Amino acid sequence: MALDNNKVAIRENSLLARLGAIRLREKRMALTFGSTIHLYNVSKEKFLHSSSWVCHELKHVEQYKRMGFWKFLWKYLAYSAKYGYHNNPLEIEAREAECDTGLLAKYSIDGRTNETTTA
Ligand SMILES: [Zn+2]
Repeated sequence: MALDNNKVAIRENSLLARLGAIRLREKRMALTFGSTIHLYNVSKEKFLHSSSWVCHELKHVEQYKRMGFWKFLWKYLAYSAKYGYHNNPLEIEAREAECDTGLLAKYSIDGRTNETTTA
């Protein structure tokens, strides 16, 4: 998986995100795998309007880049098992980045400026 550029893709109606939503008992969900953000029950347009949510997921993209794809996934699952979702250090770091709008400038999100995209 190529993680060496700063392009981020978005996938709507994702089965993976749906499974995450069920697991965490959330109505809507964004799940980041490598440099693709998977969405469930939220449109790309709506997601992109929430800059704190976008920054949170971009922080996960950055974590993948920093650690490597498989190492991130392994650590994420191990931390989740040990600390739970909320206290997972990777989640804490992502929550702390929700106001870090520098992330928005750093990454180019597929479709970010396309206001006509529909769910
Ligand atoms: Zn997160």
